[in-house]
Amino acid sequence: MATPGWSEEDREIQERARRLVDELVPWEVHAEEHEGRIPDDVREGHRAKARELGLSAMNMPKDLGGGGFTMFQQVLVSEQTGRVTNALGWCVHTPPAWAPSVCTPGQIERWIVPAVRGERHECYAITEEGAGSDVDAIESTARRVGEDYLLNGTKMHVTSYNTAAWIFFQAKLVGGNHEGEHALFFVDKDTPGVRLLREPRYSHTYPDTHAIVAFEDVRVPASHLIGAEGDGMSFTHEWFRYERLMIAARCCGAMDRLVNEATAFAKERVQFGKPIVEFQAIGHMLADSLNDLWASRLMTYELARGIDAGIDVKIQHARCSMAKLFASEAAGRVADRAVQIFGGRGYMRENVAERFFRELRVDRIWEGTSEIQRNIVADQLAKRGVSNLIGERGTP
Ligand SMILES: Cc1cc2nc3c(=O)[nH]c(=O)nc-3n(C[C@H](O)[C@H](O)[C@H](O)COP(=O)(O)OP(=O)(O)OC[C@H]3O[C@@H](n4cnc5c(N)ncnc54)[C@H](O)[C@@H]3O)c2cc1C
Repeated sequence: MATPGWSEEDREIQERARRLVDELVPWEVHAEEHEGRIPDDVREGHRAKARELGLSAMNMPKDLGGGGFTMFQQVLVSEQTGRVTNALGWCVHTPPAWAPSVCTPGQIERWIVPAVRGERHECYAITEEGAGSDVDAIESTARRVGEDYLLNGTKMHVTSYNTAAWIFFQAKLVGGNHEGEHALFFVDKDTPGVRLLREPRYSHTYPDTHAIVAFEDVRVPASHLIGAEGDGMSFTHEWFRYERLMIAARCCGAMDRLVNEATAFAKERVQFGKPIVEFQAIGHMLADSLNDLWASRLMTYELARGIDAGIDVKIQHARCSMAKLFASEAAGRVADRAVQIFGGRGYMRENVAERFFRELRVDRIWEGTSEIQRNIVADQLAKRGVSNLIGERGTP
């Protein structure tokens, strides 16, 4: 059935992503029972399939070998990858889409093109012990020494450090005209002075680690600086916007899966002589969950279409925070209700509700906590007013 506002290509892309995710789902329990790992050949097969289906690097320009998808199409794919637990959906890799417009041809060839091809990928080293929500509090430094920069600092929560080949390292400049401003660098992981300190365990069971990494007198040529000195924060903000929207999309996928699975269970599970779905307490939990899903999906789709239509970047910024805030909090409620509907089974790691209950929690923390999203929305509301943020004037 045709959906109003969807092109044939949108529908077909969604179907392609659904097909891939349907192949990933059967590996969830194996991954959960093996510290997030599945056999290497299977994982490689998933990555190859994601590339074959044209989903990997969907956000990158076609001339670099990417998919050149619209933002709405990327949301449709991320929604599908959100349906699967244990980070199995990460086989659809999305390199930094902001990079091609600011990187030099040499940087694009050395780091971005291999990421588009799925050969080598990145990780982000921004957060530090004393600088989480307050990114400007970072103490890492970059000092120009002749034709090089000398980088120092300790980063934490560096996601995918164990699988990445290179790192985006954010630091404050020491000396020069941009003293105290931010700069972002490409750092190959095997550069002398890059040292893994620890890979702590987190709530979720993912194969990718979140490392604590020391950078000790790491010397990189000036050609590793991204953009100009002082530009560092603007790239990070662009990445935050993108990731916030994609988190909202993945949360929609998780909610879709949970509502489907919990409804199927409630129709089948019999207690006191009837299916539990017939108890109003259970039906109401399902109804509230469906509403949470629908509202989140409408916000996420509307935002993506707005970005495709070219809404102002400040409005995008506020709306990305609104969608991430609402969808991640809604997904937390839906997962909690799903555990309750499954009863004791919902507390078992082999149950999808239990896994999502743990996994979705971080969506209220990373890429800016819920409190930070509220701060952004409140600030934009005070500056721009209701109709600019959510009304007619926010729509081009
Ligand atoms: C699994 C995981 C993966 C991550 N991956 C990466 C990564 O790859 N690269 C990277 O650089 N970082 C990464 N992060 C870091 C993540 O972005 C931070 O954890 C997040 O921004 C919050 O910072 P924090 O943990 O230091 O909390 P804090 O900033 O210390 O916040 C603690 C509490 O105070 C609240 N708070 C802080 N400031 C305010 C305020 N102004 N108003 C109201 N409340 C406030 C917060 O909302 C929170 O509730 C990751 C984190 C996790 C958990």
